[in-house]
Amino acid sequence: MKFEAIAVEKIPLIHEGDNLPSIICEKIGLQYRDIIIIASTIVAKAEGEIFRLEDITPGEEALEIAARTGKDPRFIQAVLSKSREVFVETPFMLVTTLAGHTCVNAGIDESNIENGFLLYPPENPDASALKIGKELEKLSGKKLSVIITDTNGRAFKIGQTGVAIGIYNIKPVKRWIGEKDLFGKVLEITEQAIADELAGAANLLMGEGAGGIPVVIIRGLDYYCEGNTSIKESYRPENMDVIKQGLRCLRNKK
Ligand code: GDP
Ligand code: MN
Ligand code: MN
Repeated sequence: MKFEAIAVEKIPLIHEGDNLPSIICEKIGLQYRDIIIIASTIVAKAEGEIFRLEDITPGEEALEIAARTGKDPRFIQAVLSKSREVFVETPFMLVTTLAGHTCVNAGIDESNIENGFLLYPPENPDASALKIGKELEKLSGKKLSVIITDTNGRAFKIGQTGVAIGIYNIKPVKRWIGEKDLFGKVLEITEQAIADELAGAANLLMGEGAGGIPVVIIRGLDYYCEGNTSIKESYRPENMDVIKQGLRCLRNKK
């Protein structure tokens, strides 16, 4: 058994309005059921989610958090403007974004963008994946899956990893429930975070710095699933999310 992870080389610096599907198809021949992994950074750039720090006017809440934490109130305002709930203010802002993804700083990046600018994450990463996926399928004539990724930290371990924030034609989670283990026992709980695992694999080729590899093709794995797929299927339901519940308790105690 094996699969391939292929870095798409020579993608230029991306700017607002760039057509990512045609740029990708110029650089690589896509095959039936390839999984196209795209760093959210270039999706955000193409969608024009670029803002100047100096243009941001912090509101009351941002100023309060800045006074408590010593951070730049304009950056805090940027994070708040993309967040529906704040769990932690310092040493980092941990929030759930308007799109429903829970991460540090609402996924706003200051890296791989010109100095003084902030890169906001794509507004609706599932919609971006769908749009890019449909266009890639049209250009290549092949059925494909797309995963838009970002780099996120983890709750209990040092080190960030690639995660899926938007998907097209792939299920985020594979249910093993009801399948048997080596000894015939029926699995009762296990669900495999396929989209995040693929994002992590692709991120090995992307890296985090000046590598210039924002697109990776995963070839040879059969995870294609046509139809309505959303990363939201992988968000833990509120009533089962003990970590968020614990963080809310801590916040209310302060
Ligand atoms: P994120 O994880 O989505 O926030 O993206 P990163 O900033 O970690 O970048 C992932 C990869 O894409 C790295 O190899 C970067 O060098 C590369 N990258 C970022 N922006 C661009 C771009 O505009 N053009 C190219 N060719 N590579 C880029
Ligand atoms: Mn990022
Ligand atoms: Mn990254």
